Amino acid sequence: MKIESRLAQIGSQNEPVTGAVSFPIYQATAFRHPKLGESTGFDYARTKSPTRKVLEDAAAELESGDAGFACSTGMAALQTIFAMFKSGDHLIVSLDLYGGTYRLIERILSKFGITASYVDTNDIDAMSQLCTPSTRAVLIETPTNPLMMITDIERVCAWAKAKGLLTIVDNTLLTPYFQRPIELGADIVIHSATKYLGGHNDVLAGLIVTKGKELSEEMAFYHNSLGAVLGAQDSWLLMRGMKTLALRMERHQHNATAVANWLLSHEAVEAVYYPALVDHPGHDVQSRQSSGNTGIFSFRVKDARYVEPILRHIKLIAFAESLGGVESLMTYPAVQTHADIPEDIRRQIGVDDRLLRFSVGIEHADDIIADLQQALEAAKREINEA
Ligand SMILES: *Cc1c(COP(=O)(O)O)cnc(C)c1O
Repeated sequence: MKIESRLAQIGSQNEPVTGAVSFPIYQATAFRHPKLGESTGFDYARTKSPTRKVLEDAAAELESGDAGFACSTGMAALQTIFAMFKSGDHLIVSLDLYGGTYRLIERILSKFGITASYVDTNDIDAMSQLCTPSTRAVLIETPTNPLMMITDIERVCAWAKAKGLLTIVDNTLLTPYFQRPIELGADIVIHSATKYLGGHNDVLAGLIVTKGKELSEEMAFYHNSLGAVLGAQDSWLLMRGMKTLALRMERHQHNATAVANWLLSHEAVEAVYYPALVDHPGHDVQSRQSSGNTGIFSFRVKDARYVEPILRHIKLIAFAESLGGVESLMTYPAVQTHADIPEDIRRQIGVDDRLLRFSVGIEHADDIIADLQQALEAAKREINEA
């Protein structure tokens, strides 16, 4: 079946007793054993829980992996993956990285003796130079957030495999509807399901999908042992969101393309970073490895004085700190999502005080553009008057 059908049908055929089309929320932590030495397959809900399991199986299947693990947040999913590593281990990580992941590595993993090097993951030579006998894994985000840099997943996976390293891909921005890293050679996919998979700015969740029996068993151990698992109600809410993923992603892509093109021709805008645009440096790789584009892009205004009034005047678009939901949100990465990244690194990767990130929602594109237009005009008026 095509992915649209599999998404719409998540959990709808899993409840044989009543035939409930929406899989029920099993609000139970303990499960009766038929007799000594027997189990229904469920013992204690941290290890395995019925509602969460339907979600986890769907995630594994959608990402073409062998096992799925639902966590309380995207950060919890990353932490669960990082539990595989030990003191002395070294990681190679995308330079333009989600701020929270950078903070987790630099402020917490570092306390346990795990180190990381940040590099442009298109630069295989630089990655080879950073690789030491202690290097265990490569962690990539593609597209990156907020600069939308694209990494050739297949190329990195082939390089990592030859060096005996695991490849972990954060697939939050494209979702399995548009991109499936495991099919390109990745070992582990991670999602902040808080974003597109949930899709409605109303549930925090993370997902891990692993490829291979050994890795899947190892991850099951860490998932259960760390205990940062997703509750039954949130598992249900996430599945409910995922049923409409295909429709939403198509609309996000359509709207983001329309808004990005409109901004490109605006006099106050210096650059628009969106891989769907043909002159984006990652456009060709992105077109090859993914079947579509995310609804996120960033743009740089010519003058930093535009930023504050734009954020004050947008009305339909909310000035808020997330992405991937049905509502349009705009973020100022330098002071919000990326505030924990030191200023020199931030500037080096281009997250400066003129950069705004836009998560384009599923409203009508004309209304989003009209809101941006009035905010840009109001900002320009204020700058001219000052
Ligand atoms: C939001 C996000 C995370 C963290 O996920 P939470 O659900 O907020 O914990 C990780 N990676 C990326 C790319 C994200 O956008």
